[in-house]
Amino acid sequence: MVRGYRLSWLGFVFAVWPVFMPVAALHAQQAGILSSLEIGSHKTPIEYLRFPLDQPLSASRFDYTATVSDQYTAKFNITATDPAANDKITINGVAVKSGVPYEVDLQEGVNKYEITVDSDEATTARYHLTVNRKDLSKVYTSEKIGDGIWRVFDFGGTRGDESFYLITGAKRALLLDTGMGKGDLPAYLRTLTNLPIDVAITHGHGDHFGQVNEFKNSTVYIGEQDATRLPLDFITPKFHYLKDGDVIDLGGGRQLEAINVPGHTIGSMVYLDRKDNLLITGDALSSGSMVYMFMPNTTALDEYLQGLKHLQSKINGMNDLTFLVGHSYQEKVPLKGAAAQELVADMRAAAEKVLAGQLVGKAAYTSFGTHKLELRQAYVGLAGLWYNPHNLHTAPGALNYLDIKTPEGQLLKWDPVFASQTTTYTVEAPASISAAVVTPTAYWPNYKRITVNGREVKSGGSHTVQLSGAGTIDVVLTGNDGSTETYSVHVKR
Ligand SMILES: [Zn+2]
Repeated sequence: MVRGYRLSWLGFVFAVWPVFMPVAALHAQQAGILSSLEIGSHKTPIEYLRFPLDQPLSASRFDYTATVSDQYTAKFNITATDPAANDKITINGVAVKSGVPYEVDLQEGVNKYEITVDSDEATTARYHLTVNRKDLSKVYTSEKIGDGIWRVFDFGGTRGDESFYLITGAKRALLLDTGMGKGDLPAYLRTLTNLPIDVAITHGHGDHFGQVNEFKNSTVYIGEQDATRLPLDFITPKFHYLKDGDVIDLGGGRQLEAINVPGHTIGSMVYLDRKDNLLITGDALSSGSMVYMFMPNTTALDEYLQGLKHLQSKINGMNDLTFLVGHSYQEKVPLKGAAAQELVADMRAAAEKVLAGQLVGKAAYTSFGTHKLELRQAYVGLAGLWYNPHNLHTAPGALNYLDIKTPEGQLLKWDPVFASQTTTYTVEAPASISAAVVTPTAYWPNYKRITVNGREVKSGGSHTVQLSGAGTIDVVLTGNDGSTETYSVHVKR
């Protein structure tokens, strides 16, 4: 899930806490009771989020609360279902249809809703639902899930929306992702460990790196290709750019191998702890519902397929593996053991079938800010693959990545962030620098030729471009079939 790729979403957090009311079980044995009561709202136009009730619906209980938060809407839906066709349902006095979502307002603070069910026998069941909307953006909770391993939740979007992980070794602790809360996260983590804390980011989406700037004195590991997604002032000299296969050693035998699974983002890293049979997955595989492969800066689907194959080769035979996902509320089944392996295999099968034209997902549309996005929703087994039907294959002349840095090795700010299928960019270069170092990497190893402003370079080789005022850096890649792609980077001073 990727809701957080716009940092402006850091605001607006509220939640629903349980408030218990006296139970009047008078109607328990009588006709006219609900068979189902659900509440929730659309998190995005394509993702419906159910808020869990404090207790499952029971025939003898008429008072419920929900433990939920939602930052996007001041409204939510109540869906009350009564299988008796003649019964009449009202919500706050308004007649509603059984099983059909009914939208109600949600104010800051305590909200009360009354749901009545009138049956033929002229009895009325009254249900009371209490919802408290509250700013929880400074709240963190955690659960210990292993020896020296915690899952931390923040409330950036919904209650427990972002899941991140603290893993301790003999010498150091590693925080895998930082969420997008607003509280004092380092202080919260101090209640869990006294070890020095390093940070590893799974990928460059705001709901995963949002609070990394709270760790200015920590080493921060991130896949280099995703680092340009971070605000420049988040980046410190202590950033360490990871390559596939790099190992982070926490001491005492606890090591995490970074594995690049391009797709959701090109630089997405998952972190494998072989000793403890853990894989921290971010959004690379989905959290058990759907992987977002339709956004403007996701890779083409064929590249994701290669990433999945690469991951399979790394976790092959690890039959006790547990996935620690980026949004654990989305897990439909616990992703461990056979289910973990199956999710990857199913995702690979889904990508293969879509690429082979054997599977076409259901059409859907959504928007992120001003971006209107078209997507297809395909499912195979445990895997949900939500993909962009116009971004299936990487062009023969595609760049895998285009790296532009100052001569001192500092990243420049890109807009938009790099994606193979996007060929026009703007970078901001401070007036103080007179040159930029351009390093293009071809997607396909059998490319024919790359030029940077007409000068031939090798894939992965650097070329220094003199910057005299504003200008354009043109990178032209000729593919194996002779077709070319031109990537134009406008330099803004
Ligand atoms: Zn994401």
